[in-house]
Amino acid sequence: MDTRIAPCPNCGSENLYRSKLVSAGGGHAPNYLPGLGGFLTSARFRIVVCKGCGLTRFFASAQAMEKVSEAKQWERATVSR
Ligand SMILES: [Zn+2]
Repeated sequence: MDTRIAPCPNCGSENLYRSKLVSAGGGHAPNYLPGLGGFLTSARFRIVVCKGCGLTRFFASAQAMEKVSEAKQWERATVSR
C-alpha cells in the first residue's frame, strides 16, 4: 500500500496498525463500498487503526477506486474552501 497513513490525523501518533484487504460487506451485512466490487464479489478495503487513540480508518482498494468515478452509487463531493 503506498497510501500515506501516518501520522494519525486525530492524535498525531505514528503507532498505527493495518489489516489485510477485507470485504467491505454486502450480502447480509451492510455494504460500505456499494457498486465498487466485481459481479458477485464485494469491494475490499484495508483498515488502519491507531494504537494511540483508536481512530479507525478504511482505505478502499485500488481496484475499487478505479470504479468510483463511474459508479452510480457515488457522486463526487463538492469541496468548500
Ligand atoms: Zn490516533
